[in-house]
Amino acid sequence: MLDDLRDLYQEVVFDHNRNPRNFRVIEDADRTIEGFNPLCGDRITLYIKLDGDRITDVSFQGQGCAISTASASLMTEIVKGKTIQEAEKLFQAFHKIVTGQDDDLKLEELGKLAVLTGVRQYPSRIKCATLAWHSLESALKGEQSSVSTE
Ligand code: ZN
Repeated sequence: MLDDLRDLYQEVVFDHNRNPRNFRVIEDADRTIEGFNPLCGDRITLYIKLDGDRITDVSFQGQGCAISTASASLMTEIVKGKTIQEAEKLFQAFHKIVTGQDDDLKLEELGKLAVLTGVRQYPSRIKCATLAWHSLESALKGEQSSVSTE
């Protein structure tokens, strides 16, 4: 990995963990889901407001490691204002890259999310980084009220 990207990864994880964005409850959320990563003990609750198929607001609460918190924080920033389809596409691109199924880093497409590809260096932490996204996906499908990475 590029040194610059690794430095940025550490900086972004530190910043978002210390000061998570959208860390609050949405009282009248259209979707609420609890996500759990038993490997690390990360727990989040995700709140989503929808207008048709657009995500007008998204927030989270929870307790977890720095990577899970930073990833959830970044995710809420990135998907707010996006349509369900756009969020789904981002999740798929992100998931492929962090799990190493796609070595072709489409950094421009990922935007801010690109820094989280730094987690690939720490395979045991990948589920920490994807927890918020798995939760988002399940919540948008409306299938479950809780999701586990295992
Ligand atoms: Zn974790």
